[in-house]
Parts: sequence; C-alpha cells; structure tokens
Amino acid sequence: MKDDRYVISAEWIFLDGEFRKGMALLVNGDRIDGVLERDDALFLGKYLPFTEYSGEFMLLPAFIDAHSHLYAYGIDRNRPSLEGFSSLKDVLEFVKHFVSERERNLYIFVDFDQSGWKEGRMPRREELDLVAPDRPVILRRVCGHVAVGNRKALELLPEGIDGVDWETGLMVEDVPLNLNRYFPPDDGEIEEGILRGQKEYMGLGVASVHEFGTPRTFGIYQKLEREGKLKLRVYHSFYREFLRAIAEAGLRTGFGSLFLKVGGIKAFADGSVGARTAAFLEPYKGESTSGVLLLSSDEIENLVRNAEGAGLQVIIHAIGDRAIEQVIEGYRRAISPGNPLRHRMEHFEFPLDRSVNGARVIGLYLSVQPNFVARWGMKGGMYEDFLGRTRWSRNNPFRALCNSGLKVAFGSDSMPPSPLLGLEGAVNHPIESQRLDMERALSLYTEAGAFFSFEENLKGRLCEGYLADLLILRGKPDSKPGDLKVVDLYIGGKKMEGEGIGKA
Ligand SMILES: [Zn+2]
Repeated sequence: MKDDRYVISAEWIFLDGEFRKGMALLVNGDRIDGVLERDDALFLGKYLPFTEYSGEFMLLPAFIDAHSHLYAYGIDRNRPSLEGFSSLKDVLEFVKHFVSERERNLYIFVDFDQSGWKEGRMPRREELDLVAPDRPVILRRVCGHVAVGNRKALELLPEGIDGVDWETGLMVEDVPLNLNRYFPPDDGEIEEGILRGQKEYMGLGVASVHEFGTPRTFGIYQKLEREGKLKLRVYHSFYREFLRAIAEAGLRTGFGSLFLKVGGIKAFADGSVGARTAAFLEPYKGESTSGVLLLSSDEIENLVRNAEGAGLQVIIHAIGDRAIEQVIEGYRRAISPGNPLRHRMEHFEFPLDRSVNGARVIGLYLSVQPNFVARWGMKGGMYEDFLGRTRWSRNNPFRALCNSGLKVAFGSDSMPPSPLLGLEGAVNHPIESQRLDMERALSLYTEAGAFFSFEENLKGRLCEGYLADLLILRGKPDSKPGDLKVVDLYIGGKKMEGEGIGKA
C-alpha cells in the first residue's frame, strides 16, 4: 500500500492561537495526522519524507478569506490592460489587433489613463467604431468610474439609462461600475476567471474562500471540481434574488463536498463609502446625502424568516451606522434564539456602540475587512475625508468587536484579495486602542472563518484530523506584516502552484 505520510516543520508553528518552536506536523493524505515534538519528528523523519523549513519560516493554517468575489476578480484580471500606453493612437492600434485576432462576443479593455497620452484626451465612440466596426468594444478608465464604448457596445445597453452619452460613447458611474451586470460574462469567461482568480489567491496563501454568485457560477464551479481543476475550497453563497430557486432545489447551507459547499443568501443593506452610498444617520462631510438604505427592516425580517425556513444562512452587507442599525432590527425580529444558522453581517464598518451590543445579544457573526482599514481607513485617508474626523475615528473597531465576545472573521472583499495587506490594517489600525496583535489577527484570518461556514472541526487550525491546508511564510512572529512573504501553500496535503509561490 502506498504511504501518503510525510513530516513537515518550520522554526515557528502557529498552534492554538500562538507561535511555538520545536514542533512539527505529521501529514497523512489530505489530513493532519498529528502534532509532534521535534524529537519524535526527527525519529519519524528517518522513515518518512521530512520537509523542513529551517531559518526564518513560519508554518500556519492556510488563510480563509471570509468574504470574496473570486470569479469576478479573476474575470477582471483576465481583461486586456491598457496601462502604460503613451498615446491614444497606439491604444487604438492595440485594440484593432486584439479584436481582429480573437473571436469574442464582447471586448472589455481596462485601466486606460488619458492623462499619460500624447493626445491627452478621452477616446471617442467613432474612433472605436473605426478599429472595431462589427464587435462590441469597451475601454474602462483606470479609476473604474468612466468608460467609453463603440456603437456595437452601446447597442447592448437598455434605453434611457443614466450616465451614457450616446454620441461620444462616454459612460460614467453606473455602467462602468457594473460592467458584469450590463454585459454578462459568458460561461467561458467565468470559468477562466475562476482559474485565474484561484491561481492568484493561492499565491497569496489562501486555501478557502467564501464566494458570492449565482446558480450559473455555482454550476461552473461544479464543472471545474468534476474536472479536477478546482484547487481552492469554496463556500458559495447566492444573491438574494435566488433565494426561492435555491430553497426549491432543496439546497441547504453546508451541502456539498470538501471543495464546494452551498453557503447562504447574500443581500445588500447599503452601498459603499467611496460612492457615498453607505447609509449613515448624518450626511457625508460637505454633502447633503447621507447614503442609501437598500432594505427595510420588514424586508430583512422576511428574508430571515424565509431563509431560516429553507435552512439557509443569511449574509447581509451593511457599512454605515444607519444600515447596521436597520439590519440588527430586522434580524432581531426574526432570528431564532442562539442564531443556529450563524447569520452574518458583512463589513460592519461604522457601528454605533449600541449596535455592537445589539449584534452581541442576538449572536451575529461579523465578517470584516481589515484591508479596507489599510486602504481607506488610515489617518488622512478617504474615510476621514468623506466622513469627518469623529466618524472616521469609529471605523472598524476590531478590538472592541473581539472583546465584546462577538464572532468576528476577516475577509478581503477582493479589494485586493491579500491577507497580508489585511493583517497590516489590523495590527496598524489608526486608532491605537483598536489594534490587534499579530496572533489574534492571524486567528481571524484562519480559524475564525471556519466557524462562519460550519467547518470549525475541519479546517483553520493545525490539529489532528483537520485538513492539511498549510501555509509557509518567510518571516518571524514579530515581523511587520508587510515584511512577510508567502513561500509555499499546501491544500489537502498537496503543495500548490500559484502566482509567485513555490519559488522562494
Ligand atoms: Zn462583497
């Protein structure tokens, strides 16, 4: 019989929330078979393959990203980039060749920046019509809020839509920000997006994601799993409009395999701070708007009742203080005592003190995004700019959430999907009293996420019987997150190849 066992060790091993020295793991197939003292490991190492990372290396459970948009991220990353061009003329030439060489239904080019072009102006519809007369072409600006389309692309849009100049082809806000909705990707693009996304995520040390999608994306994930191409573990939730379809199909939260499981039902209670659509009690600084509430308490109450009746977890996006209050009120009316389905709130960025308490009382699970702190929450950053000092100082109170006994996990929202960036936001939080130490932050990016998907007895920790989803980082427990580097990733005991891993 083939022996699938091996021993693996590094200078530091992350066990039960702390780093320990002189330890090793015995792996058997896709599982951890035991946690060993070094002497036992050396003895076993005489008979079994022994992978030892000696020097400044750490062995941890692989990251679990508790809020992710992997396929959409991958689709975006697969789009041809217009970064670095020095003239519009060259861009048009590039577009012409790209389109003529590939048969596709739609071509979306991303990341152009006219400020770096000789012409110094936006491209125009008729210029795109000249290089691509028969097929829809869209160029999206680097900011994501502006795009230009040719005639064929504009024909695909519904009439009377906001922010579209049919003459110049210029599109602002709604359409460029929601390209996948107005120009739905086909199955092939979704499949390629998943493959691209998982490769990049693995390179960042991620072995499991909590993904959001549709019955169609779930089907494509299934196909990839059947073909042996799905390498990452996916907990797949569905947008709210699919609640009935998922319930009628009899799909319950947790159904599936070790690689693809049915998650819950995702709804949005507000928008984002960057678009000034996150719902607050007070207006944005210097503006009349205070954001947009997308769900009433009644709608939330009904959603929770219907989902509970169908055995499905509810996952609600809420960022502003007002949206958070609203969601807690909706949950409070309908949630079963003890929250057995582990209903969640995502982001929870600007809670009032009473909301933290309210969430604790009903036992909500909170998936929060430390990379948002690193990107927008630092002093002088976008949050302070848009919301003023007082509200900014209340952003993402991680320590308060953890200390109150709430279940909290980290996820990236794919903006971008790097856990190391997230760790930076957590340990360098601009409000000192809200900082987490490295061990706590790592726990939120590993074992905490497993609770959110009912997999706490399966992954997220280095214990006997758990999946051998292992991460090797170069660095020391007291290194700054920015100085750490992903070296190797093992999923189900197998060493993975991702963007940049396995090369250090
Ligand atoms: Zn999201």
